[in-house]
Amino acid sequence: MTPVPPRPETGADLHTHTTASDGTVTPEERVRMAREAGLAAVGVTDHDTLDGLPAARRAAAEAGLELVPGVELSAEVEVGGRRVDVHVLGYWVDEGDAPLMELLAERRRARERRLARILARLESGCGIVLDEARVRAIAGRGAVGRPHVARALVEQGVVSTVAEAFERFLAPGRPGYVPREPLPPARAFAAIREAGGVPVLAHPGLMPSAAWQLLPAWKDQGLLGIEVRHSQHTEAQVETFLRWAEDLGLVPTGGSDCHGPSPGQPALIGQVRIPLDWLDRLRELRRP
Ligand code: AMP
Ligand code: FE
Ligand code: FE
Ligand code: ZN
Repeated sequence: MTPVPPRPETGADLHTHTTASDGTVTPEERVRMAREAGLAAVGVTDHDTLDGLPAARRAAAEAGLELVPGVELSAEVEVGGRRVDVHVLGYWVDEGDAPLMELLAERRRARERRLARILARLESGCGIVLDEARVRAIAGRGAVGRPHVARALVEQGVVSTVAEAFERFLAPGRPGYVPREPLPPARAFAAIREAGGVPVLAHPGLMPSAAWQLLPAWKDQGLLGIEVRHSQHTEAQVETFLRWAEDLGLVPTGGSDCHGPSPGQPALIGQVRIPLDWLDRLRELRRP
């Protein structure tokens, strides 16, 4: 995966999730796993919430590794008449910044509204009645999303895996799919920058390549970094994104996007590592 493998006992994984959104382990457990993987630094980047960060920070201080606090916002654009997801990571945002906190709260409220619509569609379109309270219990206090619905579908025996739940019901074009309320990438970049944070484009390899042509415009709108390494990027994509980073003056980053472990699947944390000098370059962009 990596052109020049960093020493296995070091490096940083800057993209992971916890029970504060759709990960399966608590922030404390995520940090413990980072330590076991021998990481020097770990990013916790839950969807639309900073709720996992205080516990992650305490655990990291105890474990003697660096927590890189983050958040992941889901924006979208239209490319060739198609809606394309643009996920934006924001590192080191001011956790007391009122406009960003309000944006995150609104995004979480939108997730709640969407959950009701997903359940209604599953019932009217497929005759599947999911218990909303059960989905909420699976999400706990975390930002609720499709993965929680997927786990409820597995629990109820409708499908046997989360992947099958997405394929049959929750992916775009499927009967239980409800898009998120739109958020322009520029709004995500600005909200993160104004909160003193560093916006980074997440997993560009998951976007259709036609969307990469928007990178110069995004850079002009305030984007500062690009997630070059990701567990779903091919080696060829890593090289392509490194070139984009160099050409546009974006800092390269990387992370596993670990949500697990989940049944039958080991956790991805530490399987994508970036050298610590990439992290140093990213840190320099933080508002002092
Ligand atoms: P949401 O933010 O509620 O739309 O859910 C998006 C999340 O669902 C992503 O961050 C992934 O964690 C997960 N996800 C998306 N597509 C799939 C898939 N095909 N299989 C499993 N998980 C997926
Ligand atoms: Fe997720
Ligand atoms: Fe993402
Ligand atoms: Zn993610």
